[in-house]
Amino acid sequence: MATGNVVQCNACGGIYRTHQLDGTEYYHACPPQRVIGTKPAPTPTDPNATAPIFEAVANRRDENVKVTDDQGTVAIKAEGLGVTPVTDPAILAAFTAA
Ligand SMILES: [Zn+2]
Repeated sequence: MATGNVVQCNACGGIYRTHQLDGTEYYHACPPQRVIGTKPAPTPTDPNATAPIFEAVANRRDENVKVTDDQGTVAIKAEGLGVTPVTDPAILAAFTAA
C-alpha cells in the first residue's frame, strides 16, 4: 500500500509523492528550468518537428535538509512557493501502486 501524500510544487509544477512506494521519504528539488510549451524546431528535418520553450523556475523549492544550528537541528534548504495537495482523482490514480 502506498504511503504519503501526492502534492504539486507551486514553483515548478512538479507532481510527486512525499514518500516512495516502499515508504522511503522523497525530497523534491525544483529543476532550474521548466518546459512551458513548444516552438517550431530551428532546423527541422520534419516540418512538424518542435523544440521545447524553457522558462527559469523562480523561488525554487529544495526539500533536501541542512543543519541550521550547532545542536544538529535540520530544516529544508528552501521552502520556495510551497506545495499544494493533489485532489484530482485521475492524477492520484496515476500515483497508485499497481
Ligand atoms: Zn518544484
